[in-house]
Amino acid sequence: MTAYTLVRSRRRRTFCLQIDPEGALRVLVPADARPEAIDTFVLEHTRWIERMRARLQDRPPPVALTDGARIPYLDGALSIALQATNSRRCRAERDGDRLCVAGADEAAIRRQIELWYRQEAYRHGIERILHFAPLVGRAPQKLRIAGQKTRWGSCSSRGTISLNWRLMMAPSALFDYVVAHELCHLLCPHHGAGFWREVARVMPDYERRRKTLRAQSGHFFL
Ligand SMILES: [Zn+2]
Repeated sequence: MTAYTLVRSRRRRTFCLQIDPEGALRVLVPADARPEAIDTFVLEHTRWIERMRARLQDRPPPVALTDGARIPYLDGALSIALQATNSRRCRAERDGDRLCVAGADEAAIRRQIELWYRQEAYRHGIERILHFAPLVGRAPQKLRIAGQKTRWGSCSSRGTISLNWRLMMAPSALFDYVVAHELCHLLCPHHGAGFWREVARVMPDYERRRKTLRAQSGHFFL
């Protein structure tokens, strides 16, 4: 049995596993969860835990954000154009296939780029939700942009859909798969047969996209 930190919460109804960037495991459970049930849950997810940890290790070294460096952007790429500025409020700006960034150091540049990708993820996410919601037959209450390292999307019981901004570095077919997947959770919260039937109805080739996302997910990191 793997070591984990247990977090009990009165507001929680379901069990949840989280792996932080260092690979440590947290198990979030309802306040009255029985210890045997928790152990069983963790054991049942041994393969998932191993896969997530392997994913953290497989990740290629971060892209050096130097002038001219290429960052994936949906089905294409943008090249970074570093700029000097005397403005304190600097932000990344797109100019054709260039992403112009001003920043005093690598950390500031990275921050600007992430902020810009988060805005793009929101814009593109809304666009794709508007496309898929009528096909699914449900619309979310809210879109939130998240940045977890082991999760591409989620759907809360209140109808908030979260999308990882790093999906903007993935091909658009994979971005769409995550949108369709999370929208289908508005119909079926769990990954049962009924859930996958809905996903297949909305996106007949989802299986292929799902496998590609799993195989390539280590690449969508800055
Ligand atoms: Zn799911």
